[in-house]
Amino acid sequence: IEQNMQKHEKLEVISHLSASISHEIRNPLQVIKGFIQLLHTKEYDREKQKEFYQYMNEEIESAERIISDYLMFAKPTFDDQETISVEREIEKAVSIIQPYANLSSVSIQYTGLASDHLIDCDHQRFKQVIINIARNSIEAMEGGGKLTFKVKGDKDHVLVIIADTGKGMTGEEVIRLGEPYYSNKATGTGLGMMVVYSILKNIHGTIEVNSMPDKGTEFLIRFPKSMQQPK
Ligand code: ADP
Ligand code: MG
Repeated sequence: IEQNMQKHEKLEVISHLSASISHEIRNPLQVIKGFIQLLHTKEYDREKQKEFYQYMNEEIESAERIISDYLMFAKPTFDDQETISVEREIEKAVSIIQPYANLSSVSIQYTGLASDHLIDCDHQRFKQVIINIARNSIEAMEGGGKLTFKVKGDKDHVLVIIADTGKGMTGEEVIRLGEPYYSNKATGTGLGMMVVYSILKNIHGTIEVNSMPDKGTEFLIRFPKSMQQPK
């Protein structure tokens, strides 16, 4: 029964994600198509053409943002879960977001590298969780700041703590996290945290968010420890 439930949950997550992604990407594609048709049917002056190209570019960027929040690393299907080292995967995720942090004058601190805590999770989805959270943290620190990663383990769980010194959230904002299309950004997708919550649900992980406006935010993500864990 347990296995069937898991399978059912997985299918639910996949169909939910793929239905919204195709919808979300079709929108900008339709707009681009519309402009191409316009440019085809009529001779527009140079200024008008430039305006159209500008709109098309914005739509392409919007599609790119959706793809990166959604399935930067995702394979088309959920694989059987693999056993990964949380420390090694965070290390890889940090190297991917490092340039983005540099651009925003954010320094990344990472402790916990000395050990290897094992969990059962597709490594690409784990990385997507870490990167979606970290990217929000960087975006919340407009004038720069500090992004900290910590890993801890107890008997049954591995805990990953991601903390920023950004603008923080009110209690209401925290409650709305993970709601599809909830975004406070001019060019946000509102999909990043929904993807995080979906992936965590799928692997029986939990997340706790502590935030204080103007102080910062802390994400505590708890994963079931792998059975492969050495004693
Ligand atoms: P997006 O980043 O596209 O807006 P997300 O689902 O990733 O969508 O995030 C939803 C919203 O949650 C953001 O627009 C932001 O207002 C808020 N948020 C998420 N993480 C943080 C954070 N670390 N600090 C402050 N606000 C955050
Ligand atoms: Mg985001």
